[in-house]
Amino acid sequence: MPSYKAPLRDIQFVINEVLDTENLYAGLKGYEEATPDLMNAIIEEGAKFAENVLSPLNQSGDEEGCVWSEEGVKTPEGFADAYKQYVDNGWPSLSAEPEFGGQDMPNMLGIVINELAGTANWSWLMYPGLSHGCIKTLEAHGSPEQKEQYLPKLVAGNWTGTMCLTESHCGSDLGLLRTKAEPQADGSYAITGTKIFISAGEHDMSDNIVHIVIARMPDAPEGTKGISLFVVPKFNVNEDGSLGDRNGVHCASIEKKMGIKASATCVMNFDGAKGYLIGEPNRGLNMMFTFMNTARIGTAIQGLAHAELAYQGSLEYARERLAMRSLTGPKNPDGPADPIIVHPDVRRMLLTQKSIAEGSRAMLYYLAQLGDIVDRGDEEAAKKADDLMAVLTPIAKAFVTEAGLEAANHGIQIYGGHGFIREWGMEQIARDARIATLYEGTTGIQALDLIGRKILGSGGKLLMGFTEMMGEFVEANSDESYAEFTGALSTYKDEWLTMSLEVGGKAMENPDEAGAASVDYLMYSGYVVLGYFWAQMAVAAQKKIAEGEGDTAFYEAKLMTARFYFERILPRTASHKLALLSGADNLMEMPEAMFAF
Ligand SMILES: Cc1cc2nc3c(=O)[nH]c(=O)nc-3n(C[C@H](O)[C@H](O)[C@H](O)COP(=O)(O)OP(=O)(O)OC[C@H]3O[C@@H](n4cnc5c(N)ncnc54)[C@H](O)[C@@H]3O)c2cc1C
Repeated sequence: MPSYKAPLRDIQFVINEVLDTENLYAGLKGYEEATPDLMNAIIEEGAKFAENVLSPLNQSGDEEGCVWSEEGVKTPEGFADAYKQYVDNGWPSLSAEPEFGGQDMPNMLGIVINELAGTANWSWLMYPGLSHGCIKTLEAHGSPEQKEQYLPKLVAGNWTGTMCLTESHCGSDLGLLRTKAEPQADGSYAITGTKIFISAGEHDMSDNIVHIVIARMPDAPEGTKGISLFVVPKFNVNEDGSLGDRNGVHCASIEKKMGIKASATCVMNFDGAKGYLIGEPNRGLNMMFTFMNTARIGTAIQGLAHAELAYQGSLEYARERLAMRSLTGPKNPDGPADPIIVHPDVRRMLLTQKSIAEGSRAMLYYLAQLGDIVDRGDEEAAKKADDLMAVLTPIAKAFVTEAGLEAANHGIQIYGGHGFIREWGMEQIARDARIATLYEGTTGIQALDLIGRKILGSGGKLLMGFTEMMGEFVEANSDESYAEFTGALSTYKDEWLTMSLEVGGKAMENPDEAGAASVDYLMYSGYVVLGYFWAQMAVAAQKKIAEGEGDTAFYEAKLMTARFYFERILPRTASHKLALLSGADNLMEMPEAMFAF
């Protein structure tokens, strides 16, 4: 397993030189103190924790996995201790609201810290990771009493949170859920049912676990309109905030699975457990979107994390592993062969990983900044940011995780046969990366959300808002020296718009057309959006080079990677375009029975 080295220079490049971070936070109420110096200092501390504490537990955690018993779930050696250090150092409260003990730092900073921790050890991050969505949900929708009761402990990290949606018969279609919530005389609800696949549902890291659960009340309408949201603690909480008796929620077993083996994936039985309604009855799914949107951005980070880790390992290996000679003559004449990094095909894979990791980082930090504008910007700015986020969130979740999986796969390939062998760690990265395209809404579900709800549902308005922003960037950087990036980007932007119109027209006549186009449409959009961020990085690098700032090799490397992306990766859009415009017939005309032949 490659030992993780936090890419601090790259992170700072995106935050300070590509995105207008300093001005943004100086103008957002409450974030004035989040200066670049302060953020850099926090990021450097986060990097040390990730490199020194979490990274060494990544491979051992995978080997050991979690162990279930009647008493609970034991996480791998070192996990609980690392969590204690995380809490003692105040990390859980970094971007929470001050009212409940939070340090009130921007969400973007929280996302950077999650990238560092998650790249070092994704399984470990799953435990505190779910708490973040739980905190956001209670902050946004909890009653004052619920906030008082749960938030201080969650924010401090003494308690962790979960998201209990999935049941054995339903994951994507939550309208089918069966868990019941019966009103009780004391105003609470008795929650009964079984949830499956609940990450961090049980573990040995915190004093209490706060489950955010969706369930159906008696006489609730069918489908998604009859879903209510509840908070269900593992230990009931007394009025003074101390822990009371054990609630009727237990972990019946944990899953044996392909990857993220050190993250406990739990079957949770709710046997008349005491639960408390959050917000209005039957509005659960709407409120759950607060959790899900937070979790979707969190999952997008997983794609970046695995791409980065696979790249770091691959690069080290490609510089050391000797095989054959360069086609243009020996590059290591004193050795018996050249390092494999001389070979064009190995470079193709390395640059694919690099362009995915670095481009995604810029995309996701920007997305996190939009979240901060939605929270703290003035009304007009917040509305605009919210619209941009609506388009970008499904793209970030699905495209970045698919791309991250590709990058992880290249890691195996670059290591040759050794990539397939456990001790090198590359196969673990690919196994761990696989889940990211599934949970928090599969790629197919994100693609439907993008094309159906966001693009066609808004009559194209949300897309036009996004492409308008791209257009402004192109116009502001119309100088000839940037044309190789901004000129190409402008063409793709226009094509994205006209193609969307065409798909929209077809979908009006036949709704299957939208479904048939959806994943290719999402991937097309992802490549174009990543191109937008690569163009921004290229322009920022070119400006630095022109200004004669030091670090020329760093900026030249960014330019070359941008060029690689524009010339070798972005053209993948052409095949997605052809596929998505080919229509629904080639998918739908075959009768179901004929799939057997
Ligand atoms: C390790 C792990 C951790 C998890 N953690 C959590 C957690 O903490 N909390 C939680 O609640 N859940 C969790 N999940 C559950 C996860 O979110 C679901 O598995 C996921 O949402 C998919 O649901 P499903 O498995 O029921 O698949 P299904 O919904 O049955 O989907 C099966 C396939 O059909 C496709 N499909 C379904 N409907 C459509 C459609 N309309 N159009 C096109 N394609 C469609 C899907 O894309 C998928 O490919 C976890 C799962 C795993 C494996």
